[in-house]
Amino acid sequence: MIHPHELGPIRPVDEADSLLIRTTRGCPWNKCEFCVNYQDTKFSIRSVEEIKADIEKAANYFNQHPFTTCFLQDGDSFAMKTSDLLVVLEYLKQHFPNLQRISSYGRAQSLIRKSKQELQELCHAGLNKLYCGMESGSDIVLKNIRKGTSASNIVTSAQAAKGAGMVLSEFIILGLGGQEHWEEHATATAEVLNKIDPDHIRVLTIGVKPGSGLEQKLINGTFELQTEKNIIEEQRMLIEKLNGISSDYVNHHAVDLLTEARGQLPYDKPKLLAIMDRYLALNEADMLNFTLGRRLGHYQRLDDLQDLERYEAINQQLHEFESQYPGQIETIFHSLRSNVV
Ligand code: SF4
Repeated sequence: MIHPHELGPIRPVDEADSLLIRTTRGCPWNKCEFCVNYQDTKFSIRSVEEIKADIEKAANYFNQHPFTTCFLQDGDSFAMKTSDLLVVLEYLKQHFPNLQRISSYGRAQSLIRKSKQELQELCHAGLNKLYCGMESGSDIVLKNIRKGTSASNIVTSAQAAKGAGMVLSEFIILGLGGQEHWEEHATATAEVLNKIDPDHIRVLTIGVKPGSGLEQKLINGTFELQTEKNIIEEQRMLIEKLNGISSDYVNHHAVDLLTEARGQLPYDKPKLLAIMDRYLALNEADMLNFTLGRRLGHYQRLDDLQDLERYEAINQQLHEFESQYPGQIETIFHSLRSNVV
């Protein structure tokens, strides 16, 4: 579909049905080692007039489509002046009167520069949901991936957004600590999430992208990927340490191995742990079969292992990979998940 207004390259999975309006281009930081989303885009804040013109074009194009949600692209609308963002929000609601939720990505560093009153004004004007890519709660991991912020700033900014009335969704990335720091990554991420109690926790799994800084680290050996099993052990440890929070916890992306692991904390914590344990208890042949089946998109959930026809077809593929690339199956798993968009 060709839209008459400007669009950025990505949006959160949860915003699939939302109106998209671009307020900024790229990311003001653009240095995270794992991220290639805006590598070729110089960061800029679009002028209010440009954004208003796009809102008018979108309103004409969608011809009174009753959007109830809108996502502001790209990487950080909170980098805009609050007064400008308020004008945009007002204009958006005039043209799309059914909007109930307007959301944006926001960097912790941009949020902590806004006063409590500014965040409240933005929330009351309609910007009532924040997506924050915290990725990890470990200062060691945050430093290694050049996140440009700290665990304490993540907590402060998240609490400020929640205090202003915003719904808060935190992304975390499994496997980001690598072999060296996976336990620290799980433990410190759980600690930060326990302090924040976000409305939503969205889980992603690391897939190292070509051209990223993390790829260089893989090549020079300063970052070592965990096995798929170890990443699930990490997730189990993380879930086990989540306490006293009421977040909706979801493995929501195709890059996640166990997308059936989703539930409401604290009630579903035993269910989430049981899903991890069920995978971890598989014998080696079934674990390899399931992992390859998921990575090739043939399986959705652990119960799919009961389908003997699919199981045999995947086993055949597994044997082919093993004979062509002996000892490389984890590299193949990683390569398959890295290609997931
Ligand atoms: S802050 Fe977000 S968009 Fe910017 S480089 Fe890091 S991960 Fe990418």
